[in-house]
Amino acid sequence: MSSVLDLVRDDLRGFTGYSSARSAKLDGEIWLNANESAWANPGDPLASCRRYPDPQPQALRERLATLYDCAPEQLLIGRGSDEVIDLLVRALCVPGRDAVLYTPPVFGMYAVSARLQNAPALEVPLQDSAAGFVPDIDAIITTARQGGAKLVFLCSPSNPAGLSIPLAQVERVAEALRGQALVVVDEAYAEFADTPSATRLLAGHDNVAVLRTLSKAHALAAARIGCVIADSGLIAVLRRCQAPYPVPTPCSALALAGLGEQALQQTRARIATVRSERDRLRMALSLQGHVRKVYASDANFLLVRFIDAEAAFQALLRAGVVVRDQRAAPQLHDALRITVGTPEQNDRVLDALATLEPVT
Ligand SMILES: *Cc1c(COP(=O)(O)O)cnc(C)c1O
Repeated sequence: MSSVLDLVRDDLRGFTGYSSARSAKLDGEIWLNANESAWANPGDPLASCRRYPDPQPQALRERLATLYDCAPEQLLIGRGSDEVIDLLVRALCVPGRDAVLYTPPVFGMYAVSARLQNAPALEVPLQDSAAGFVPDIDAIITTARQGGAKLVFLCSPSNPAGLSIPLAQVERVAEALRGQALVVVDEAYAEFADTPSATRLLAGHDNVAVLRTLSKAHALAAARIGCVIADSGLIAVLRRCQAPYPVPTPCSALALAGLGEQALQQTRARIATVRSERDRLRMALSLQGHVRKVYASDANFLLVRFIDAEAAFQALLRAGVVVRDQRAAPQLHDALRITVGTPEQNDRVLDALATLEPVT
């Protein structure tokens, strides 16, 4: 039987990483083993930051595991999912040999992390279909096999394209690439979608990993808390490759507060607002003469093609609205990505675009 652990770089098999003072399983009252100060900083009267943190704060790990319906051992907390993407590439890809596959136009960090590791990049473009941008599953499998992919990044819902990938398609890729590649499903926007999480594929496919983050729906982008959910053996390997104390105490405290029952209730209400505003904005935009196409979205943004994207971008800027220019991305020479804001902010977007010269 092949195991996902066979995908880890050979030279890292016996790697134990840094052995921190926190990892020694000792008991005592007076801790003089890590060269920490004996006194609190005056700016930290509760001394919450006097000592090094737990590398994986247990309460937060358990809370996240409950939220994402997995075991704590299957989850690793990182400094945003950005760090986790980098960690996966470093732990799995032998530089100059093992490739990383992704599907442009897509989130840029997969390519950046591959480049930093000198891992060959395999690009399988999304296909612009009637339903929107969709991955070409057969081409992904063929390209991954021929190009020696060790990692396949599937973004679902996809940024900036917007659509989720049905689980059956993710499963098909995982099945086809068993023993060859880890299939990483980046679910940064999953809270805004109806598709169930790919974590439910984990039981049958140990070569699946799922990325989640508190940066988008949970409104904690500056806390830098993201995680990967995967086979517990792989999680242990990734932990050994990670920085000694990756989760600052103020950040884990904030994350725990932000995941309390009451906070979660508000977050869910805001997700519902974003979803209804997304639909309203999409409808209103598609009626505007300057808009060529508004793509369907399962996320908290809309990808919009304009007759004159530069004019639209400038009109929005004049109204004080900054959106993401996508024109440099493949297949998106006329597109902007607009994050769904409050109802008032979305009205500003619509008003600003309505000021454009009429299309004749
Ligand atoms: C925003 C985003 C991330 C980054 O998440 P962090 O947890 O803030 O690092 C990851 N993946 C995608 C697709 C994103 O859009």
